[in-house]
Amino acid sequence: MPDVAALDLEPAFVNRVRDAGAGLSCSEFHDSAAFIMDDQLKAETCAVLVGASLVDPLPLLTSLGRQDRDMPVVVLRKSHDLRDLKTRLRFAPGIGRQIRIWDEAEFDDIIPMIHAFATRKSTQAALSRGLAAAARQPSIGKADYELDEVLSNAPIGIAVLNPQGEILAINRSSESLLGWSRSRVRDRKLAERFNAEQRLVMEEMIAACLKGDAISGPHRFELRHVVRGEPMIVQVSAGRIGEIGAVSGCAVYLDDITDLAEAQNEVEAARARLEDKVAARTRAMSAIKARLEQRGAELERSNDELKQAKAELEQLTVRDGLTGLYNRRYLDLRLSEESSRMQRMNSPMAVLMIDIDHFKAYNDTLGHVEGDVCLTQVAQVISAACRRSGEFAARYGGEEFSVVLPGSTADEALVAAQRIIEQLAELDIPHPTASHVTVSIGIESATGPGMPAPGELIRRADKALYASKQAGRNRATVYSAG
Ligand code: GH3
Ligand code: MG
Ligand code: MG
Repeated sequence: MPDVAALDLEPAFVNRVRDAGAGLSCSEFHDSAAFIMDDQLKAETCAVLVGASLVDPLPLLTSLGRQDRDMPVVVLRKSHDLRDLKTRLRFAPGIGRQIRIWDEAEFDDIIPMIHAFATRKSTQAALSRGLAAAARQPSIGKADYELDEVLSNAPIGIAVLNPQGEILAINRSSESLLGWSRSRVRDRKLAERFNAEQRLVMEEMIAACLKGDAISGPHRFELRHVVRGEPMIVQVSAGRIGEIGAVSGCAVYLDDITDLAEAQNEVEAARARLEDKVAARTRAMSAIKARLEQRGAELERSNDELKQAKAELEQLTVRDGLTGLYNRRYLDLRLSEESSRMQRMNSPMAVLMIDIDHFKAYNDTLGHVEGDVCLTQVAQVISAACRRSGEFAARYGGEEFSVVLPGSTADEALVAAQRIIEQLAELDIPHPTASHVTVSIGIESATGPGMPAPGELIRRADKALYASKQAGRNRATVYSAG
């Protein structure tokens, strides 16, 4: 350990020097300062003199037992006294070969170094104490004694920082990660190696550890390799040194995960490509689905249209084009169905045959067009007589109509027939040879098993119609055999 001397002759300056080693004992401070000086002078030992009015350093050096003329001497002092001191030192007998005087400006540079060194020393002391304690544990073997070396050769970078974030030590892996040699880190801050944004994260991480967090991070930073210039990804985390309440700094762990990050990026890219493919396929599927739905809707629409057209076509095949009543074909079909049904139900069924009176004269006088209009009007009156479900009217042919009333007796059918005659009287369509357009009606009604065939029902109703004509027209007659 180098020798150190201090003269307490200018309190303000000496206090400032002491402040640089805040928290250190006087001898710790001087040890640290001496070490720094020693390093700067590349000498094994030196004397450090702190003071303003050093008149003659020789007695001091003598009192330290140092009279070696080759010993370097470093003097820390205020600049205005420099010339005077140099002169006196140069002529002082028995003083060291190398005399280096650090003035106040240089001293500003040295202070942080002294402080960093001192902190590192205390950290190392704490670590040594820990190792010594660990060594005393019977279960811990020799390997633990070599922890320093293990840390030094660890495959991840480790940097030990003081509470100010200044580097106290780094291991070998850190050298290549940071691009700094181990012997040159003491005057650096780890933050210098990072950009402003990364620095903020680092500071937060370190602050968290100094506050007591056992570990903080990790965070990923992109750095540029100092030699190769290639980008590299470094995962950085920080760990507290010392117990809560007595934190003496923190260790920063730097892990070069470039390969891992690249692999992760590749996986991520592959995943993104896959997602893109899936998204593209989903889009294609959605488009197909939308097209299918559209086609489905179109099909449904055209199906509806088809249904409507079919219904219209069916109506056309069963309706009379002029009057809108059912046609003869429908009459034949339904009459047969209804007569069978009524027979099964043992119910009565009535058939009306209706013929417009003197329609030839109407046509001859007013023309066929007027005749058609008249036919339609009469048809509407006849149709209105069908009120209950199952009842219907049809155009039998020419100016003749049929009405089928399932479930009606002859009397009920007669009431319906009278209603038609009355309605026409009310309608009062002018007729060239009569008071108004009238009809003659024949009725046949039969019940249950004895019901005649449809053709016979029509024939009998027709017969009754003939009777109405014979009786003077504009009336209804119920068929009676004989
Ligand atoms: P009656 O009282 O005896 O039934 O005498 P009528 O003149 O009605 O009988 P007739 O059978 O002599 O004449 C029926 C007329 O009906 C003849 C025909 O011109 C007319 N007619 C038949 N179908 C149509 C039609 O679709 N339109 C028009 N305008 N007239 C028709
Ligand atoms: Mg006729
Ligand atoms: Mg007629």
